[in-house]
Amino acid sequence: MTAIPADAIVRVAVVTGAASGIGAATCRELASYGIAIVANARREHRLQELAEEIQDAGGKALAVPGDITLPDTAQTLIDRALETFGRLDIVVNNAGVMHEGPLAEMEFTKIQQTIDVNVTAAFRLTQLSVALFRKQGYGHLVQVSSILGTKIRPGAAAYSGTKHALEAITEAARLELSDTDVKVTAIEPGYVTTELHNHWPVKPRERMGIDGLPPEAVARCIAFAVNQPPDVLIPKLMVVPTRQPL
Ligand code: NDP
Repeated sequence: MTAIPADAIVRVAVVTGAASGIGAATCRELASYGIAIVANARREHRLQELAEEIQDAGGKALAVPGDITLPDTAQTLIDRALETFGRLDIVVNNAGVMHEGPLAEMEFTKIQQTIDVNVTAAFRLTQLSVALFRKQGYGHLVQVSSILGTKIRPGAAAYSGTKHALEAITEAARLELSDTDVKVTAIEPGYVTTELHNHWPVKPRERMGIDGLPPEAVARCIAFAVNQPPDVLIPKLMVVPTRQPL
């Protein structure tokens, strides 16, 4: 693989969960600002299509497929960004799953999968990003949390629990890095129309009677956070549909 000269790149972002929804929209949005993208998810064909779309529009993108719950995937993403583009400025820790149901009835395998993706894998990428950004003295870690990282409702115990954990590590990371210029931001979306709820028997739209945000709305919030001047940090940004009742 031929490395692109570092001076040809303005900024480089790793985006997880990039095969669909908020992650794919974020790749497109950041690429529109000239940011080179390293896109990860398991569905390789989706990533390749996205990378080609960004390249066809004049941007730079690399598809790095892989299961984020495997121990080496997070380090591989960082390594591929540095090898290919010569730097890493932004990590969007976005991959996530959501299972819904009362605690007593939920299969434990679904709770475990939620913890594996939303907590264990997210913590691993957080830890590696914090270490790299501290060493290089710059960087922006964007954690895609949820409104359910700040609130709780019945039926969302597994998901809320994992997103509360992500909020905790995110705030700890921000405070630990407050003696540096490294930034840490939690994005807290409400209901967004994506594949996240595909397997649910009752869709949020039916339950709440509202339309979700388009994933592009969240992507614009992420771009807003990462495009602030060096002395401005947005620690948290909640974005919900105007009529969301939660
Ligand atoms: P999607 O289901 O569209 O996106 C989830 C992404 O994560 C997919 O691209 C999926 O790709 C990837 N992913 C899931 N498991 C793994 C894995 N084991 N390894 C690698 N990649 C994985 O949903 P959203 O875009 O909505 O979700 C993105 C984030 O936004 C999540 O963290 C979610 O919790 C959060 N969020 C979403 C809200 C909503 O209402 N939609 C509201 C609040 C927060 P693949 O299957 O190919 O691996």
